[in-house]
Amino acid sequence: LGGLVWFRADLRVVDNKALREACQRCERVIALYTATPMQWHEHQTSPIQVDLIRRRLEVLRQQLKALNIPLVVLELADFHQIPEAVLALVQQHQLNHVFANKQYEWNEGQRDDLTARLLNRHQVCFSAFDHDCVIAPGEVLTRNGDPFKVFTPFRRQWLTQYRQQPPQPEARPAPVVQNLPDALFSDQPVSFTYPEKSSVDWPVDEEAVIQRLRTFCLEKAPDYHQRRDFPAVDGTSCLSPYLAIGALSPRQCLSALFAEYPFCLDEPDSGEFSWCNEIIWREFYRHLIVAWPKISRDQPFQPWTRHVRWQESEALLSAWQQGETGFPIVDAAMRQLRETGWMHNRLRMITASFLTKDLLIHWQAGEQWFMSHLIDGDLASNNGGWQWAASTGTDAQPYFRVFNPTTQGERFDPKGEFIRKWVHELKDVPDKYIHEPHRWPQANGLNYPKPIVDHKAARLRAIEEFKAAKAQA
Ligand code: FAD
Repeated sequence: LGGLVWFRADLRVVDNKALREACQRCERVIALYTATPMQWHEHQTSPIQVDLIRRRLEVLRQQLKALNIPLVVLELADFHQIPEAVLALVQQHQLNHVFANKQYEWNEGQRDDLTARLLNRHQVCFSAFDHDCVIAPGEVLTRNGDPFKVFTPFRRQWLTQYRQQPPQPEARPAPVVQNLPDALFSDQPVSFTYPEKSSVDWPVDEEAVIQRLRTFCLEKAPDYHQRRDFPAVDGTSCLSPYLAIGALSPRQCLSALFAEYPFCLDEPDSGEFSWCNEIIWREFYRHLIVAWPKISRDQPFQPWTRHVRWQESEALLSAWQQGETGFPIVDAAMRQLRETGWMHNRLRMITASFLTKDLLIHWQAGEQWFMSHLIDGDLASNNGGWQWAASTGTDAQPYFRVFNPTTQGERFDPKGEFIRKWVHELKDVPDKYIHEPHRWPQANGLNYPKPIVDHKAARLRAIEEFKAAKAQA
């Protein structure tokens, strides 16, 4: 038997069900990664994330080589070309089984269905495994067997099931005993036809990623709940880029956490529990896109929010994108995103609320901008975060909750440390005025915009607009 392991968003050899199954069931194993630049453009995949993938593939290739498995990297235009390309590779190497871990987004699902159908017509099996979540989508359900629409009851049920049988990460498979031509084990650098942005600040080798996870668990998890909201503080794990491309799995995360704190699930006020809670958010959003495929197809979760009359303003959208809104915490966050591909969770919430409520610009404009810049861009979590902020999503988030960007700044960056790091124009503004520099008596000398909206008035406008939309539904 010959197997092809098709890697996608699971660029790891540990805790990889598809790889393990192929190694257990097949005498010969070849690995494949399909790069699809046109599809990436369509999905707004950021150049920095593509670079992270590229670098991680080089690590993966070495890891697979140690297992005596060659990795073939094919560059195709988009998903349409995949079924034929996979079939051709399978036929070239006389393989009869393709193994993959499922991706839950709509287009990815369609791609897999078409590939499976074509392979089956040629007597090749296609097996896809649920391995991107700790508990698979569709397995955490209400008493009536329905998917959850709200996070808190989902988490309760998720934890009940998790406690009954905590899923453990799968071990790295043993090397495959096979004789393949040396030429298959290429050492050519991986490169793609895609705009470039270096991700070199994010190490991708196995040890560095695991070390980051361990260090977080040992040193930061206990205080996570107290430090996680302050962007100037290094209080979160910064593991999302690895989770997004599958260099790390959520099971690995939880298993590392519970190795240090075996009883943390019984301590809901602890930092460790709080971190686990975030991993469950990740699960929740994945379960949602499976239960409601419309989410990956540009639809709001709450149908009535389609009646919201979003504003169209290139000038305001551009001010938000470029970090020129006159609200220092928003601008600092947006400039950091543009320059580095990273944004802290608290700032994602503040900037998303600002765009959708203060500017009343459609959440999809923000969703796309984030996707095209974030190193950890991920449809389920990004869409979930945006719909949460815009009050179009699942949660009981009332539409009249609008973040005040000034008080958020005062609360979470009290001395303006984060602001001064990214908005250089404000470096000499005294602490007292750092969140409202236009009020500083010497503000005239600042090369920094005045606020582009009046928050109080904008807040009322947004609430009225949402109220009207709801009444219309
Ligand atoms: P930690 O605080 O250390 O949390 C651990 C892990 O839990 C994260 O790595 C992540 O995988 C998961 N997680 C944490 N918070 C959330 C959350 N709110 N929703 C879902 N999963 C979460 N996350 C992404 O991975 N990709 C995105 O594209 C993305 N876009 C977002 C857009 C908006 C508007 C908002 C509000 C949130 C978004 N998030 C996204 C969620 C969250 O901001 C990031 O996961 C988090 O900031 C990553 O930092 P960390 O790894 O240090 O997280």
